[in-house]
Amino acid sequence: MKVDANYSGHPYEEWSIEDWPSVYQNPDYPNIFAPGIAFAPPHSISKPMTSPNGTKIFPAPPRTGMPSGVSGKVVAENIAEWIKSGKPTMKHKASMGKMGAACIVSAGYDMFKGSAATMTVHPIVPDWDKYPEWGRNLKYTMGEPGLAGHWLKLAMHYMFLYKAKMKPFWSLIPE
Ligand SMILES: Cc1cc2nc3c(=O)[nH]c(=O)nc-3n(C[C@H](O)[C@H](O)[C@H](O)COP(=O)(O)OP(=O)(O)OC[C@H]3O[C@@H](n4cnc5c(N)ncnc54)[C@H](O)[C@@H]3O)c2cc1C
Repeated sequence: MKVDANYSGHPYEEWSIEDWPSVYQNPDYPNIFAPGIAFAPPHSISKPMTSPNGTKIFPAPPRTGMPSGVSGKVVAENIAEWIKSGKPTMKHKASMGKMGAACIVSAGYDMFKGSAATMTVHPIVPDWDKYPEWGRNLKYTMGEPGLAGHWLKLAMHYMFLYKAKMKPFWSLIPE
């Protein structure tokens, strides 16, 4: 669904993190929102390429659990405040050009022989103005395979189920 993004289709050289939505509100139907994987990205996040036989290569931006959770939360907060105050202030924002994300791909169940690939990026959509060399803050962008990631994923499994059931102090568990 189209939201508050820049869908003008301008060329790669003019792409900016400002093209990315921050409140996930449909421009034609203000009471409809599309956070998480529901929103239409304005463009891919890596430079569009062409293979030697002319096939266009433009990978879709990854939209994983963490940005989905964060964007869903700001939309819920904005709707709640709109209902309570009667004014659509939309003061909570979450752009993929400003937030980071962590993702763990778990492989194998064994507590000692299992493994996982753990990745973090910041920001998700590269910001070439702020980080001209790589588009991202390398302090918060890493990837590492190993057993510790598997344990972390297992812990998250139970934490998120706990949160989904809204058990005591559920809101303290981050997205
Ligand atoms: C196999 C797989 C592995 C993944 N692994 C990871 C991972 O390791 N780490 C990570 O960060 N992300 C992972 N992801 C991505 C992550 O799961 C998604 O980015 C995230 O769940 C998207 O959340 P969402 O709330 O936007 O959408 P969804 O989780 O798809 O939620 C949409 C909900 O809307 C419901 N729905 C649809 N149509 C209607 C309707 N008409 N009426 C009412 N309800 C409706 C659906 O049933 C669904 O429950 C994985 C995804 C897949 C498929």
